[in-house]
Amino acid sequence: MNVDLRMDLADCGSPERLLQVLFGYYPDISRRVPLEAIASDVGIIGFTTLEVEGFIGGLTADPDKNQGIILTKDGLSNKRKRFTIGHELGHFLIPTHNYQRQCSKQDLEENSRTSTYKRQESEANRFSAGLLMPKPLFIADIDSLGSIDAGHIRQLSDLYDVSMEAVANRYVDLSPETCAVIFSYQDVVRYSRTSKDFPPLDIRNGSQLPLASLTRRYRSTGGTSQWVSQHGGIWLLPQYNVRFPTVLEQAVCQSNGFKVTLLYIDQEGEDQENESRELVARWTPYLR
Ligand SMILES: [Zn+2]
Repeated sequence: MNVDLRMDLADCGSPERLLQVLFGYYPDISRRVPLEAIASDVGIIGFTTLEVEGFIGGLTADPDKNQGIILTKDGLSNKRKRFTIGHELGHFLIPTHNYQRQCSKQDLEENSRTSTYKRQESEANRFSAGLLMPKPLFIADIDSLGSIDAGHIRQLSDLYDVSMEAVANRYVDLSPETCAVIFSYQDVVRYSRTSKDFPPLDIRNGSQLPLASLTRRYRSTGGTSQWVSQHGGIWLLPQYNVRFPTVLEQAVCQSNGFKVTLLYIDQEGEDQENESRELVARWTPYLR
């Protein structure tokens, strides 16, 4: 254990502050973050298999969380296992989180704050995402990959050794574009994430993918579709007095009926479109 690091981390309350201090100790960290080594530096003394039905990750530590053991379900892919370890490490290091945890698949997708439990799960997810996809590196990579494309999610998933799902969430969080990502299974929405400026989606968890969506009919396993230009009404909630923007849609088929949808709104194009509409509206009375 690195005692200095551990002492510095003890003063940090939020995932972001913890990560800031942590990365100070690993200035030249690689994209494939050495997770086990970091865990061991902060007091994790072992990794073992979790054998409790319905849970995929767990933490067991002494009440002061000086030392802990991280548990993961057998059979997780390496990428998902890494995210789960990062999540449990978050529970271990965030002072307000309990020293004994068992986390379900749903907990590892949590990003709401509607209860203390959900807020803590969501904090552990933020910690894991921030640890495995360090912000400065990830932003530089998004930038150098160029214009938005679902294919980049696959590339980044290999580069950082984390699942496409974790990458897609981070991508939407950190991309400067107005975009959203929807995860579905057998054409039923599992959950979605949007960038801060994305208009409200007209879907909810458990609802069917829109019939007119490209994702609904895209069937090429392992493939990424071209961008398709869609009427915004297919995906977005109607808003009073607001014209639907054009939404660009791209679909990725993973294995076994899992799909990822990337939506993108070209804000610059939309602004120009709105301006020219306003101009026409303003001049129309005089042109009659
Ligand atoms: Zn958890």
